[in-house]
Amino acid sequence: MTEELAYIGANIANIRERVKSAALRSGRDPQDISIVAVTKTVGLEKINRAIDEGLNVLGENRVQEICEKYDNINRECKWDLIGHLQTNKVKYIIDKVNLIHSVDRMELAEEIDKKAHKSGRVVDILVQVNVAMEESKFGLCAHEVKDFVRALSKFNSIRVKGLMTIAPYTQNEDVLRSVFRELNKIFIDIREENIDNIDMELLSMGMSNDFEIAIEEGANIVRIGTAIFGKR
Ligand SMILES: *Cc1c(COP(=O)(O)O)cnc(C)c1O
Repeated sequence: MTEELAYIGANIANIRERVKSAALRSGRDPQDISIVAVTKTVGLEKINRAIDEGLNVLGENRVQEICEKYDNINRECKWDLIGHLQTNKVKYIIDKVNLIHSVDRMELAEEIDKKAHKSGRVVDILVQVNVAMEESKFGLCAHEVKDFVRALSKFNSIRVKGLMTIAPYTQNEDVLRSVFRELNKIFIDIREENIDNIDMELLSMGMSNDFEIAIEEGANIVRIGTAIFGKR
């Protein structure tokens, strides 16, 4: 192992401690929170180091990058797509992804269902919600989520596993907390409907700057890049 990459191990240990504390503060089992290591722009050697440290779910936001890395990381790991997905690129990743975090429109869901069916698999997805209604971000508006999820229940080759959001880029804790809280409310509300073919289990929210607040507000997947690998 390269000594110069030791900081990755130290960062991961630090993050695990903080995840654990945040989980305990909110009365939850730290084991229930999973960390996606966001590896966009990160090179293979560093990714391998994170896998050595036990982080084997990797998050990428570009299809091309997943495809290139997929062939070059010969380790036991899973790839999550966390970024915007163009409909015409679904075919490239359908056999590679573990979980798509960013389903935000019917046309995309139809294409994922079609290609998954062709591959003989069922693909797990999350519905992306733009809670703060930021122009720059993808995702459904909060009030559209329930009907959208209901509509997805008809697909046989997609399994809805939960919701995802990207909070506004701010240090304002109140703003962050209210965004995460609102998504958690929608999540619980839909879960209580017990819709066929919908398993509301996963709530993907929180990044390097805000993952502790996200966990306190109900996240069970956090997506962390910078705090593991350093500035991109
Ligand atoms: C880049 C990215 C992250 C990780 O962001 P950091 O601030 O580096 O932790 C998480 N989620 C999505 C969707 C991203 O694009």
